[in-house]
Amino acid sequence: MSDTVREKLVIIGSGPAAWTAAIYAARAQLDPFVIEGSFHRTMVPGGQLMFTTEVENYPGFPDGITGQAMMDDFKKQAQRFGTRSLMEDVERVDFTRRPHRLWTSDETEYEADAVIVATGANARWLDVPGEERLAQSGGGVSACAVCDGALPHFRDRVIAVVGGGDSAIEDATYMTKFASEVVLIHRRDELRASKIMQERAFENPKIRFLWNTVVTEVLGDEVIEKLRLENRETGERSELEVGGLFVAIGHLPNTGFLGDQIELEPSGYIRLPHSWRTATSVPGVFAAGDCMDDFYRQAVTAAGTGCMAALEAERWLSHG
Ligand code: NAP
Repeated sequence: MSDTVREKLVIIGSGPAAWTAAIYAARAQLDPFVIEGSFHRTMVPGGQLMFTTEVENYPGFPDGITGQAMMDDFKKQAQRFGTRSLMEDVERVDFTRRPHRLWTSDETEYEADAVIVATGANARWLDVPGEERLAQSGGGVSACAVCDGALPHFRDRVIAVVGGGDSAIEDATYMTKFASEVVLIHRRDELRASKIMQERAFENPKIRFLWNTVVTEVLGDEVIEKLRLENRETGERSELEVGGLFVAIGHLPNTGFLGDQIELEPSGYIRLPHSWRTATSVPGVFAAGDCMDDFYRQAVTAAGTGCMAALEAERWLSHG
């Protein structure tokens, strides 16, 4: 008896892109098998939404919904149509011949006629004391201003944003809608963000810049209270009272397990050769959600591309 498990369609991931692909694929009777990923320090099945407290911008939930409840519901909806799933990581793949082959962390080998990669991306964190604890407990530390910034907690408070790229400027500018003041903390004395975004931020009277400065600790028991800071030029240490911290220092796509089996952008995101299609450089392999999107990064856009990937996989499986 062979140890290899044969599947028609394997979906890798368990965020909005993966479950939406599963819902569409299951309803198209493709009998999808979802490999969800396992629990790590900053990565859990369900993806980044599991770290978001309240999702208020996903249409259809007028009263908002927690990220965890939303992912539970996505999964239940996929299961209702017969989706099967497993909480293991895919460790490596071989896409050089068909069927495609994948190996999970429990050392099972899978063969699949088609694969949808929807493994998402991870926000980069500062990795300083207090940050992870207050991010996971919803204590005012977040890596997504668009997701969390409008929550009442951040209203009329001093809010810190860390980073010097477009995301940091965008988050700082967005937070001026709610905060009494936004303090943008950057480790150098020059921004990396596009000039036009920089100019807008410099002109915004609610944004103050702290240059050459790094956060060394996030203080607060239940909720964030202060940041410990250090000036990299002078070595001077200080504290800043804040009601929130948004870390905007970039994202890393979860594509390392793909090795060189599929074309990636230099940044590690999966390259899609045709615009408005989810087909990758490998026939029969499709990509959806944040592992191929470094621009929108929203639950609703990820879900949309999950739908697209399932429809393309269905078409590909029927025409080969
Ligand atoms: P990014 O351009 O890579 O910028 C990351 C920033 O974080 C840099 O300023 C970097 O500092 C800083 N940083 C990195 N690690 C750090 C650490 N450990 N501690 C402190 N600071 C750290 O990332 P991004 O801003 O997320 O942008 C990613 C891509 O998306 C870019 O191509 C960007 O143009 C695009 N984007 C576009 C828009 C828009 O057009 N509206 C909005 C968002 C993002 P250094 O500068 O010193 O390296």
